Amino acid sequence: MLSLHGVGKAFDLPKVKGQDNRFVALQGLDLQVHPGQTLAIVGESGSGKSTTLRIALGLEAPSHGHILFDQQDVTGYSWQQFRPLRRRMQLVQQNPFAALDPRFTVFDSIVEPLVSFGLLKGAALEQRARELIERVHLPLSYLDRLPRELSGGQRQRVAIARALALQPELLLLDEPVSALDVSVQAQILALLDELQRELGMAYVLVSHDLAVVASMADQVLVLRQGQMVEQGTVAQVFDRPTSEYTRELIAAVPGRLVTVAA
Ligand code: ADP
Ligand code: MG
Repeated sequence: MLSLHGVGKAFDLPKVKGQDNRFVALQGLDLQVHPGQTLAIVGESGSGKSTTLRIALGLEAPSHGHILFDQQDVTGYSWQQFRPLRRRMQLVQQNPFAALDPRFTVFDSIVEPLVSFGLLKGAALEQRARELIERVHLPLSYLDRLPRELSGGQRQRVAIARALALQPELLLLDEPVSALDVSVQAQILALLDELQRELGMAYVLVSHDLAVVASMADQVLVLRQGQMVEQGTVAQVFDRPTSEYTRELIAAVPGRLVTVAA
């Protein structure tokens, strides 16, 4: 469904003593996301996880390599060329406050993508908003609320409902629970799991919680300083890691990681 081939990204930084100054954030990255499956990307802060998602979404151009979406080479697409694909892949950010306009009601936020693409209006739009809010298990009355009238977990449910509005085939989840209270994290993860089973979406899940990755992902990619350290099924990576770095990450997790049969 989505693949990156030899993707690199260098950012231009302000010149130092008149010399060009570039920071290599990603190098030689290959990855594949299969329909209905979850690819987890793990790695410490600054390892290039969000940059990878931004490149996949066409928000950032790669310096090297190719991006294929549904077998279509989308490398170098303009914003306009990318627009139809944005219906098919959606981003859920770490901080749901950033994703929701504070002046918009929940209804406005959820239907905004449908309005922006001119897909529904009037009663059909209202009906779709009710379906979406029910999908994320919030009461219908919440459609009239503002973001500040919601808890963090409820806000993330609204951000997820909004991401579902265009019926995407792929969700890019950038640390979707790390800004939430621990007690709420499991509920949001259970919701994501339920939505994937019912709607058949593929996920790219960025997380630094290896226990979450072990329970939710099919494939895992370990990034370190912009380079892939290891990639494979959850069972391969967690039960038989090949790199010392992955072994250290796993050793740092309290308790034992329980992997789903991959
Ligand atoms: P992660 O999500 O894994 O924490 P990011 O992908 O956000 O990491 O960032 C990877 C590296 O690239 C970081 O060192 C970050 O500072 C750098 N970086 C990200 N975006 C830019 C940018 N627009 N300009 C310069 N450096 C950037
Ligand atoms: Mg990030």
